[in-house]
Amino acid sequence: MKKMLVSACLLGEPVRYDGQAKKLPHEALDRLLEQGRAIAFCPEVAGGLGVPRPAAEIQGADGSAVIAGNARVTTRDGDDVSAQFVAGAQRALDLCRRHGIGVAVLTEFSPSCGSGVIYDGSFTRERVEGDGVTAALLRAHGIRVFNQQQLADALACLDR
Ligand code: SF4
Repeated sequence: MKKMLVSACLLGEPVRYDGQAKKLPHEALDRLLEQGRAIAFCPEVAGGLGVPRPAAEIQGADGSAVIAGNARVTTRDGDDVSAQFVAGAQRALDLCRRHGIGVAVLTEFSPSCGSGVIYDGSFTRERVEGDGVTAALLRAHGIRVFNQQQLADALACLDR
């Protein structure tokens, strides 16, 4: 049975920077979880960051630039957490390869998980086009990435 990678916070795990979850109530998702087909993963925790942790944003670019070493992810105080973000993304990719996963549902706007739109690095909740670091790496390796508003599309893709 095909499996799907899902941001751990969407499955109710309190792994966000503020120690909260962001549970996405959805019957189909609960069913996948019961069947062992929804694999929960938090790239920031997997990359070595704690809970809670300072919020971080990509500075002036997107996840692809961070992976290429051309941009940084920093906290509001300017601490560089790029290495942890890249390590977490790599672990997400490893996990997808291990489970044969081709579809991921990741939390919107996050500097790791965001797809298509992310925060702009100013810590003002302004958004720009672009992928988070994990979303960018997964996409670069052919994995279809959706946000939680696109769950129906992701489920349809999983069944194809
Ligand atoms: Fe959720 Fe992704 Fe942020 Fe982890 S890195 S808390 S899974 S949005």
